[in-house]
Amino acid sequence: MTAEPLMRMRLRVEQDIFVVRQLGREVARTVGLESQDQTRMATALSEVGRVLLSLGRPAEVTFTVEAIGVPTLHVAMTHPARGEESRLAGQLQQVGRLVDTMEVDNGESGTVVRMARRLPAGAPRLTPERMDEIHAELARHVPGTPLDELAVQNQQLISALDEVRAQRDDLARLNAELEETNRGVMALYNQLSQELEETNRGVVALYAELDEKSAQLAAASEAKSRFLANVSHELRAPVTAIIGLGRLLTDSGSDELTTEQRRQVDLIRGSATDLLTLVNGLLDLAKAEAGRIEPTWSEVDLKAVFGQLRGTLRPLATRPEVDFTVEEPGLPTLRSDEVLLAQVLRNLLTNALKFTEAGSVRLSVRRIDDDAEFVVADTGYGIPPELQERIFEEFYQVPGSKPVSGKGTGLGLPYARRLAGILGGALRVDSTPGEGSTFTLRLPLAS
Ligand code: ADP
Repeated sequence: MTAEPLMRMRLRVEQDIFVVRQLGREVARTVGLESQDQTRMATALSEVGRVLLSLGRPAEVTFTVEAIGVPTLHVAMTHPARGEESRLAGQLQQVGRLVDTMEVDNGESGTVVRMARRLPAGAPRLTPERMDEIHAELARHVPGTPLDELAVQNQQLISALDEVRAQRDDLARLNAELEETNRGVMALYNQLSQELEETNRGVVALYAELDEKSAQLAAASEAKSRFLANVSHELRAPVTAIIGLGRLLTDSGSDELTTEQRRQVDLIRGSATDLLTLVNGLLDLAKAEAGRIEPTWSEVDLKAVFGQLRGTLRPLATRPEVDFTVEEPGLPTLRSDEVLLAQVLRNLLTNALKFTEAGSVRLSVRRIDDDAEFVVADTGYGIPPELQERIFEEFYQVPGSKPVSGKGTGLGLPYARRLAGILGGALRVDSTPGEGSTFTLRLPLAS
């Protein structure tokens, strides 16, 4: 501590304790300590003063301020008694908490109690000019009476009490807010769990309804298939009989018919044949839908199947504008049901020939990964994109699409797709109106 002392005073009688207290606060205030620290410093001084005075002889008090480094207020209180350090240190332990540091030493002129308190960061800088001002201010200070000091102390006590009360109020308010928030959170939680429960109940009910509806749907679909199968089966016999009778009537062994009669009988036979085709188609589809088609698995020789298709369809491809080609198969065999496979390809090829005016119709097959991919490609009318899925519905025919030859029932593609599924594969179409269509049947090589 190299600084000049700010102030010195002597503690002689009890009244001086009030003076040192006042002086301490004044010095603390002047150097820039905050209000609470001023009180702490003043209290510490009066306590140490009281203890030192009880030793009997006068004590010396020196105030110094350290301006270099961390600005700090130092107070040294010296008492001539020696060998009292440890006893004093014990007595002053509590007081030490009021300041940053407190030490009790044995100095040249007796026992010294040293206290220090750092000035706050916001305190005015202790420049030489400021130091001069501080000296001047303290020189003007006139100590008051013990009564004055008591009044000041009371004032401080009141403001300390006020502060404590304010803090207590703050705490109470915070507690109330916390309680309210808790209540809000609980209410929200309850509401959410209620909503969740309600939603869950709704979902459960929805699922039950869904189950019921799908059961109804399955039952309806089964009833439809049963109806179709029964009706077609019942129709087949009389229609076959009509065709047979018609043939009999026009047979050369029968009585001669007039030209008009012959024309009419031919009409009856033609209509009956169309009806039989429809009835057969319906029966096939109903069987497929009812799961009554059981594939017979075997190693299918594709060369033979392709040869057979080439032969049976050739008569349909009579127009020279259409080049009908069944390519050599790109793989030799496939594990599948030969009859069902040939049926699907026949349906696709018949359609291609029916809806292609000029250009080509081609069948090919190649291996792709673990599948065989059959492609029936034509250069026919094509199918608008938005109808490419609808053509797989029963009886659906693209509006305005008139077959170049033959007729249709609208059952060929739904049946072909069913069979593809039964064979473990899938059937899809790609088509551009005016350019042509490509039907692709993909089947696993080994089922
Ligand atoms: P259909 O007995 O009428 O041929 P399908 O179920 O086989 O019945 O076909 C349904 C409809 O799909 C056909 O009426 C036709 O409008 C359309 N279609 C099928 N194949 C082709 C094709 N290759 N090119 C153009 N349109 C096609």
